[in-house]
Amino acid sequence: MTLVARHGALTDIGLHRKTNEDAYVVQPPLYAVCDGMGGANAGEVASATAAETLAAEVARGTPILAAAEEANAAVYRHARQNLEQTGMGTTLTAFVLEGRTARFAHIGDSRAYLLRDGELRRLSDDHSLVGEMVREGRLTEEEAAVHPHRSILSRALGTEPAARIDEFTEDLLPGDVLLLCSDGLSGPVPADAIKLALTRSDPQAAAERLILEARKAGGPDNITAVVVRVDEGPHGVEDEETTLVQPADPEADVATGELPFVVDDDGPSTSKADAADALAAEAAALRAEQADAPSARAAVAEEAQRRRRRVLRRLGVVAGVLAALVVVLAAGAFYLSTVFFIGVEDDGSLAIYSGVPGEVGPVPLHAVYRRSVVTYDSLSPSARTVVDERRLRDREDAMDVSRQLGMWP
Ligand code: MN
Repeated sequence: MTLVARHGALTDIGLHRKTNEDAYVVQPPLYAVCDGMGGANAGEVASATAAETLAAEVARGTPILAAAEEANAAVYRHARQNLEQTGMGTTLTAFVLEGRTARFAHIGDSRAYLLRDGELRRLSDDHSLVGEMVREGRLTEEEAAVHPHRSILSRALGTEPAARIDEFTEDLLPGDVLLLCSDGLSGPVPADAIKLALTRSDPQAAAERLILEARKAGGPDNITAVVVRVDEGPHGVEDEETTLVQPADPEADVATGELPFVVDDDGPSTSKADAADALAAEAAALRAEQADAPSARAAVAEEAQRRRRRVLRRLGVVAGVLAALVVVLAAGAFYLSTVFFIGVEDDGSLAIYSGVPGEVGPVPLHAVYRRSVVTYDSLSPSARTVVDERRLRDREDAMDVSRQLGMWP
């Protein structure tokens, strides 16, 4: 028996984020989703770096687990070379079709699902704090889905020199539908709605339906879906829709949708422009419905502030490059990525930062490593003193102190 794969894919910024830090790869027989994290655009860079590296390695014939390990190394290297992106990382959930078998590599809280005979089954474990707690029986899936700390990852790509990446396989049958998605989809959209969307025979229609469901559920995060449907076919496993164009080909026509490799860091790809327009219109309507006047004003003010910061950041590019150079020289072998401190975010919430307090010109010398929902204001006076001193610590010490401060209730 031979299987033929058809795919659909879409990524979307959602209704509340200003950037899309998700990326996906559709390069048959490779499919992947990455969800980046980290301040100062680091999330976008992390997910794009991982997706590009994975795709390039698999295209060279590297087995998927080794390719994912290369992606880890690439993101980790990038973080060490770019001080302001220290602490960045990404999820990676990917598979390669090998005959009738899908071979997966997975790390983080993006998910892989299989729809078979009307049953939706999750294939991947969530590498998140709440995911671990569910596996230990300390939380239910339902509690985990709404837990305030559900976005804290226990494992990610690019944050350590060596990543612990899951590898597993699934033998496929005709009619199987595989879904890779970011938590912006699996979080807000109930399993029943995911199942219903995946029963559509056109994978692209299924992906679009899934994005829409996540937006209807509030679209709190970036949303990405890669849907692959396998059916019985005459010529072995191949992708009947896709004309393979080498990713390196500069003449490749993005608008025709024939690029096998798409990393979307700015929303939907050109080839999906129609679907994206429709979604954007629907999203604008949803947003208008949901926005009352004060929150709309707040959004405008927030946007103005973001723009100001962006301008400052641009003005500071030259100064920043020089400053970074100065810091590198002055600090010598002082590795910013190995020091941490506890501080306060603009909105008053506590966070562990990787790096050192302060900035050189407009370039901060730190990035958020773990963010807490607990606010500085809620701390006792003595606890505030501990935060105020912004002492540099190694990671374990910083985690210990953050626990003593009750930052992870
Ligand atoms: Mn996400």
